[in-house]
Amino acid sequence: MPIATVNPATGETLETYDALGEDEIERRLAAAETAFRTHRTTTFAERALRMRKAADLLEEDQERIARVMTTEMGKPIRQARAEAAKCAKAMRWYAEHAEELLADEEPAAYDVKDSGASWVIVRYRPLGPVLAVMPWNFPLWQVVRFAAPALMAGNVGLLKHASNVPQTALYLEDLFRRAGFAEGCFQTLLIGSGAVEKILRDPRVKAATLTGSEPAGRSVASVAGDEIKKTVLELGGSDPFIVMPSADVERAAEVAVTARVQNNGQSCIAAKRFVVHADVFDAFTERFTARMSELRLGDPMDEETEVGPLSSEQGRADLEELVQDAVGKGARVLCGGERPDRPGWYYPPTVLAEVTPEMRIHHEEAFGPVATLYRAADIDEVVAIANDSPFALSSNVWTHNGTEVDRFVVDLEAGGVYINGMTASHPAFPFGGVKRSGYGRELSGHGIREFCNITTVWHGA
Ligand code: NAP
Repeated sequence: MPIATVNPATGETLETYDALGEDEIERRLAAAETAFRTHRTTTFAERALRMRKAADLLEEDQERIARVMTTEMGKPIRQARAEAAKCAKAMRWYAEHAEELLADEEPAAYDVKDSGASWVIVRYRPLGPVLAVMPWNFPLWQVVRFAAPALMAGNVGLLKHASNVPQTALYLEDLFRRAGFAEGCFQTLLIGSGAVEKILRDPRVKAATLTGSEPAGRSVASVAGDEIKKTVLELGGSDPFIVMPSADVERAAEVAVTARVQNNGQSCIAAKRFVVHADVFDAFTERFTARMSELRLGDPMDEETEVGPLSSEQGRADLEELVQDAVGKGARVLCGGERPDRPGWYYPPTVLAEVTPEMRIHHEEAFGPVATLYRAADIDEVVAIANDSPFALSSNVWTHNGTEVDRFVVDLEAGGVYINGMTASHPAFPFGGVKRSGYGRELSGHGIREFCNITTVWHGA
């Protein structure tokens, strides 16, 4: 894939970039190693000062970087501004909390005594340069949620961003530099995916995190496994959105629309499969379909636009194929389903009913504004449908019945269960999935400890 900014609203190539050569990659790996030697010795207070400065600068740049993101990958401009604000918030959160999250721990006195020690502490030490392979869909947020905890822990970052968001990638390097992080602490590598393996095998790179598709995750994890390096994988999702009879159906339908079409439907934690109890199926379907049909599809720079184009021509072709496969096997199109006749890679909000396991869309991730509807007779069937997916990132449940809540929290296979609301990440809460959605966690204390050397310091009597 060429490294280029191509406007998905028009299909126009605005800027292309040469990939870094071997020499330049070597120079940056050496810079990362050198930077780590110093950065690891800085205090939390020093790192926090820089991280807060980065947050301030990002807020100053909010409009500029929002426009860059919208131009590069097509998200509606208001959502791009919100993404920048969210990044600044996460930076401040880690600036505030990193020291307490990574504070030395003292095991229980009786265990210390039992081990024959006079004292024992558990210390969180940084690992070194971490390679981050990141996707285009939240081009700022995906990187910041790695970079803020990594830098605060004393690690340094090497970013291989998606090839279609080079300007956002370069902005991030510049942001951390302007904030005062030393040369080499956070570097963007403009490289194609083919260059990742060699960098990952380099002994100076200590670990990797990848957010993206299953094939990319498998590839990076197998190389890292071969090198015995730690990885965190945040992969695809096909989250269920469950509506039970006690739910506020009106509100559920309203939130369901946002949960499905946020970021033009290209979010790992978007609700994709709508599993609705038979008692409220018709009422929910009517409201949900009506709202999906009313959404304003258009130029993502327009303040009124609710759904912009998909990020790439290939992305739209993949989505169309999934819909056509489902329709060919008997799915009913309740709205959308036809690409509009206009330039750019637009696809309309689409609702499919009568979806069955034979259809690809039942098991594959629909990365665009396409919702699938399932009618379930009872809670057992709801749980069975919800779990019938290779993915298990998060889940959304609408009910006011406490017994049902208990059942869902026990039985849903997912890294999150959001009740009477939609899944949204927050710096203080762990984020990640199980099954084919990946492993490891980002955000919160769990996220910052993923790339630490958890060291037992034992002192004899
Ligand atoms: P992608 O094709 O896997 O790309 C993600 C990143 O991986 C890009 O930087 C890409 O580089 C790189 N890459 C691709 N193949 C690779 C390989 N074989 N070896 C090394 N690097 C490789 O994913 P995408 O289509 O851009 O992003 C959408 C996917 O990400 C969806 O499945 C979505 O659900 C998932 N996602 C997950 C989360 C989460 O937190 N779980 C969050 C957001 C997105 P190039 O651009 O150069 O190909």
